[in-house]
Amino acid sequence: MAYEAPPPHTYWKCQRCTACCRWPGDVKVSPEEITEIAAFVGLGEPEFLQKYTRLRTDRAGLSLIEQADDSCIFLNGNSCVINAVKPQQCRDFPNKWNFPGWRQVCEAIPVPVEGEPC
Ligand code: SF4
Ligand code: SF4
Repeated sequence: MAYEAPPPHTYWKCQRCTACCRWPGDVKVSPEEITEIAAFVGLGEPEFLQKYTRLRTDRAGLSLIEQADDSCIFLNGNSCVINAVKPQQCRDFPNKWNFPGWRQVCEAIPVPVEGEPC
C-alpha cells in the first residue's frame, strides 16, 4: 500500500473532520488497548469484548465494531468518546500510514514541525 509522507519538516495536522472515523473498515485494537479502553469506559474486559469488538476482516485480531452507518462505535457526533485512549491506528493516521487517494477524504494539512526549519 503506497504511503505518502508529509513534505519535509512538516506533519499532517488533523482538522478533526472525523472522516476517518466514518469510513468502513477495521479499527484494530491490541490486547493492551482493549485493557485500557475497557477500563476507560468502566467495563470489565469480557463485557467490553462482547459489546464493542469483532473479528478483523483478515481474522488476525480484533477490531472495534461500527454503527449502522459504518462509523466507529465510539464516534458521537464529531467527537471520539475514547479520545484519551483511542487505538494506535487512529493516532497514526495519516502521518504514519495512509493510502492512495487519502487526501480526497482527509482534511489534514501540512504544518511545520515545531523546532525544525520549514
Ligand atoms: S480524516 Fe484526517 S482531518 Fe479528518 S479527523 Fe481523520 S485525520 Fe483528522
Ligand atoms: S476510536 Fe475514536 S478516533 Fe478511532 S475511529 Fe473510533 S471514533 Fe475515531
